[in-house]
Amino acid sequence: MSSTLWQRACAVMPGGVSSPVRAFRAVGGAPPIVRSAAGAELTDADGKRYVDLVGSWGPLILGHAHPAVIEAVTRAAREGLSFGATCEREIELAERVRARFPFADMVRFVSSGTEAVMSAVRLARGATGRARIVKFEGCYHGHSDSLLVRAGSGLATFGTADSAGVPEELARLTDVLPLDDEAAAERLFAERGREIAAVVIEPLPANAGLLVQRQAFLERLRALTRAAGALLVFDEVISGFRVAPGGMTQLTGITPDLVTLGKILGGGMPAAAYAGPAALMKQLAPDGPVYQAGTLSGNPVAMAAGIATLDVLAEPDAYPRLEALGAELERVLARELARAGAPGTIVRVGSILWLSLQAGAAPRAWGAVERAGAERYALLHRALLAEGIWLAPSAFEVAFLSLAHDEQHIERVRLAFGRALRASAR
Ligand SMILES: *Cc1c(COP(=O)(O)O)cnc(C)c1O
Repeated sequence: MSSTLWQRACAVMPGGVSSPVRAFRAVGGAPPIVRSAAGAELTDADGKRYVDLVGSWGPLILGHAHPAVIEAVTRAAREGLSFGATCEREIELAERVRARFPFADMVRFVSSGTEAVMSAVRLARGATGRARIVKFEGCYHGHSDSLLVRAGSGLATFGTADSAGVPEELARLTDVLPLDDEAAAERLFAERGREIAAVVIEPLPANAGLLVQRQAFLERLRALTRAAGALLVFDEVISGFRVAPGGMTQLTGITPDLVTLGKILGGGMPAAAYAGPAALMKQLAPDGPVYQAGTLSGNPVAMAAGIATLDVLAEPDAYPRLEALGAELERVLARELARAGAPGTIVRVGSILWLSLQAGAAPRAWGAVERAGAERYALLHRALLAEGIWLAPSAFEVAFLSLAHDEQHIERVRLAFGRALRASAR
């Protein structure tokens, strides 16, 4: 059933998917076609069940089909799917964002993280009158042209297009720096700090493994941008509401100029946002000259899912519970690695975990990530999938826990992981 569906998918959609990583190219094999999901589990078209450690790549911090979210979405849907006018639920969600990110007086809703970061970059360019932006190797900010750029060769920081179809003229306006390297950032700012509109960073980079940054590095970026009159954009599409209610902005105590949010914000529906101080946000149309719009932006059903999700997360035991689950999964996976004598570390922040299969200290920059781990990961991934454990189909993607996971799920993962490690060692 699943395999015939996959053939049909490949006939009508490039690679059989609507987003490339879903095609399992990095691990091999045909991806199961998902029929439904509930709590911490996915069910495929053959009726096989999996413990889900992907959580739709981050949004599902409450698990699948959480009753409060389904109830809120159902009620909203009955009241109309889209208005093309401001609705009360947008105001309510914007107020909840502001309560968690107090520096951000105002919120503009969009439909995807890509749009949020793309628009934040436009706002930064409009507000500063400068063209250049800076990103970091190993950070992902969606697929807009200016951010689909990777490090150029040699010592040059000028980026080069990371996709066909991105003009090199545009890619050259993006400088790409290594993470965890104050000196490189200082050199760039000394050379052309006055041309830089914004530095965009995932304050907890979670798209190329989990590359935990030093507080001092993030503080240096804050100081350099402020001194040069450039904006600092925290892309908290993953970390926002995940590692703390106010994301890394709260945990680091560093105030960016703009924050981008997505994933959890929509509770599994398409919603994202960028937010910041009123003086900056009022540069947006219709108040100001920076244009940005969206037919389905602030969609009432998506807003309802976001409100319900944030309200469940506001219960006092939510984050302690996510931390406890994360700590437990980290502990048992690390023990299985040690037992099998396999090199590797479990890198974890709260409910985000990365299985790093390299020896030594956890890397903080993409340049320190060993690509060789990917082959071992592919073997593990296949063995775990057969055992009913759904891990991200790439060695450099993280795992997410949700409030729907419990000790029994963790025990299932532990047993399967131990067996998969032994099988892949043979
Ligand atoms: C997922 C992600 C995006 C892009 O969001 P989409 O909704 O997939 O467009 C941007 N930034 C970060 C940090 C992300 O993890």
